[in-house]
Amino acid sequence: MSSFRTLDDLGDVTGKVALVRVDLNLPMKDGSATDVTRVEAVKPTVLELADKGAKVLLLAHFGRPKGQRYSTMSTSFVQGDVEEVLGKEIMFIPEVMGPVVEQSIGILGNGDIGLLDNVRFWPGEEANDPEFAKGMAAHGDFYVNDAFSAAHRAHASTEGLAHFLPAYAGRAMEAELKALDAALGNPEPPVAAVVGGAKVSTKLDVLENLVGKVQHLIIGGGMANTFLAAKGVDVGKSLCEHDLTATANRIMDEADHAGCTVHLPYDVVVAKEFAANPQSLRTCNVHEVAEDEMILDVGPLAVEALGDVLKTCRTLVWNGPLGAFEIEPFDAATIALARIAAALTQDGSLISVAGGGDTVAALAHAGVKDDFTFVSTAGGAFLEWMEGKDLPGVAALKA
Ligand code: ADP
Ligand code: MG
Repeated sequence: MSSFRTLDDLGDVTGKVALVRVDLNLPMKDGSATDVTRVEAVKPTVLELADKGAKVLLLAHFGRPKGQRYSTMSTSFVQGDVEEVLGKEIMFIPEVMGPVVEQSIGILGNGDIGLLDNVRFWPGEEANDPEFAKGMAAHGDFYVNDAFSAAHRAHASTEGLAHFLPAYAGRAMEAELKALDAALGNPEPPVAAVVGGAKVSTKLDVLENLVGKVQHLIIGGGMANTFLAAKGVDVGKSLCEHDLTATANRIMDEADHAGCTVHLPYDVVVAKEFAANPQSLRTCNVHEVAEDEMILDVGPLAVEALGDVLKTCRTLVWNGPLGAFEIEPFDAATIALARIAAALTQDGSLISVAGGGDTVAALAHAGVKDDFTFVSTAGGAFLEWMEGKDLPGVAALKA
């Protein structure tokens, strides 16, 4: 793995100012956060720096203010949540540079924590304006990026700062990069990838990247229908992108050349309406889907066969549910395969890395989120990494 500096490479930081990019873009309801996972993720980094005697300045975005100051999008709204998770009082600083920041640093003692305002209030952030980055950098002695979820953006606080200050990966960033490297960068073969979800069109680049890197490509979800249709299967009323059948065929050809086996379901769970436990529910062979039926999940025989595939693999990377898992019983295949992967991981025979908004929800629903080797909550950044893209925020950390 290309090397990057971590907190282990910091010397004595007593009294030094750390500019720490974190993800505090918390989901909110009625003025308070509904989920503080993102704060918990950066807690080790923030407390480690504070314990080492640094003055820690947290830098984050919150919502989409598009370069203007909106009182409703101030990071002060999450101050209380951050304090609660860290178990420490922090100082809110309503700027990201200038005299107010300078004075606040003077007030902070060693080991104290300050929270700067929403960095996206300033247009220089998203424009990655070097002058803006330089202005922020002037207040810090070093820069720590602990926000992998924002690393696919080349913004001043996610990329630009690394050009003006010594840059380090925080603990969450470090864990994420190690896990992703173990899953696709330098994985132990054989490698299986599960790609599910609604549409092929949103995951074309993911599929293109994976066929050259994995030995088994397991396609489920709505996108499997497009692949089945490309093979001449009548998928009835299923969600299917008929205009992408040529693309699907090309991906299958590429897989063939690369020695990657593409697994499509051969039995499926279908219904005539998209509702919980509908009257019309049945399981059938893919060749028996009626014209008024929709494929809503992978069938039990296919899941069993996929479980056998996973048993032969050392590494698994998973993005996208196998079925319309939000509605019962179309969560069955995702739950069953996730539990097999979790058990293999716990036995020590499989390294399993998963990510994606709905994927994380589905794994939590299956009760196995903590049994995978690593589950990324990064969303867009995780997907771009699965597409094989260089993430600017990660590239900037490389020594
Ligand atoms: P992630 O957020 O993990 O990247 P996606 O957003 O790509 O995953 O896919 C999740 C969505 O795919 C879910 O809303 C799920 O209902 C839908 N889906 C999965 N299988 C099917 C199917 N057979 N038909 C319609 N929708 C499906
Ligand atoms: Mg999604």
